Amino acid sequence: MNINIDNSKENDGPIKKADVLPASELRQDIVSGDWVVIATGRAKRPDEFANFQRTQDDKGIEGCLFEDPVASGQEKDVLIYHKADGDWTLRVFPNKYPAFSLGKSKHSLSEGPYTAMSGIGYHEIVVTRDHYRQLALMENMEIAEVFDAYQDRFLEHMKKKSVNYIAIFHNHGKEVGASIPHPHSQLMAIPVVAPYVKLELDGAQKYYKSNKECVYCTIVEYEREDKKRLVFENDQFIAFCPFASRVAFEVHVMPKFHSPYFERITDDQKVKLAEVFGKAMKAVYGALQDPPYNFYIHSAPCDGTDYPHFHWHIEILPHTATWAGFELDTGIEISTLQPEVAAEYLRKQL
Ligand SMILES: [Zn+2]
Ligand SMILES: [Zn+2]
Ligand SMILES: [Zn+2]
Repeated sequence: MNINIDNSKENDGPIKKADVLPASELRQDIVSGDWVVIATGRAKRPDEFANFQRTQDDKGIEGCLFEDPVASGQEKDVLIYHKADGDWTLRVFPNKYPAFSLGKSKHSLSEGPYTAMSGIGYHEIVVTRDHYRQLALMENMEIAEVFDAYQDRFLEHMKKKSVNYIAIFHNHGKEVGASIPHPHSQLMAIPVVAPYVKLELDGAQKYYKSNKECVYCTIVEYEREDKKRLVFENDQFIAFCPFASRVAFEVHVMPKFHSPYFERITDDQKVKLAEVFGKAMKAVYGALQDPPYNFYIHSAPCDGTDYPHFHWHIEILPHTATWAGFELDTGIEISTLQPEVAAEYLRKQL
């Protein structure tokens, strides 16, 4: 076949009546440069998202592996907190089926042109006591204790030579990967810097170079003043729906003070964080009536390098959409709710 391709462009044709109000808006994430689509054309009302409710586990407490982790054969605790009267409130133990663990020998796994390395690292589970009390239903002091445990384990693992990045995340609901319904978070201390965080580090660095300001501090300042996407704030932290939200009801929680390193959070700051994070979780819980969700902490890597222009934060992603071909193909996510509308609805829950 003889193909002759003409690269010249032609006009897009006449604007139809339906195009006067465009069906969508493309918004760019200021840090990563990623694009998202806010599909205003097929927009739903905020109360229509409550049908993404979590599937309740019918087994309940019966046979739950985390009621008595020792008896159910979990690994030995590496951290445990108790109430004054003796019962435990939180415990951390190594995952019995780790995605990363310490191997005996570190052998080269490269193959031909491909690169590989052993999955050396640590994988731990952080469990809170009450099977039926997820984070949205906890008191601030209980939430602060969870952050305390994250910090404790972070500080422990970051000392290790093989560890360059620490991922802390929480899956809630089997729709988003929680195989055990008992509330628990996971920590993975791994040898490589997470690609998503790398994008953010690079984006923050680039922004700093051209603006001489931290991009996250800029976001915090703008969202506080503008208020459209604000969910809740106190004097130390802020929760808001990001301008380029990837899914409906996405919420970010950020310190108002500049800090690249989550692990340097003080006890006072943990209490303030618990208040803002707790409000965000309660708002999402109320708006979506107990949805499945993931959240994770993005903190600077612990690879011995300084990241002065990074700014740690938490991203909360309720499960309000399913990735389909377009998202997988392009990496552009389509959200059917404007973040401004989501934030207003979330504020109403508080
Ligand atoms: Zn349980
Ligand atoms: Zn900053
Ligand atoms: Zn992030």
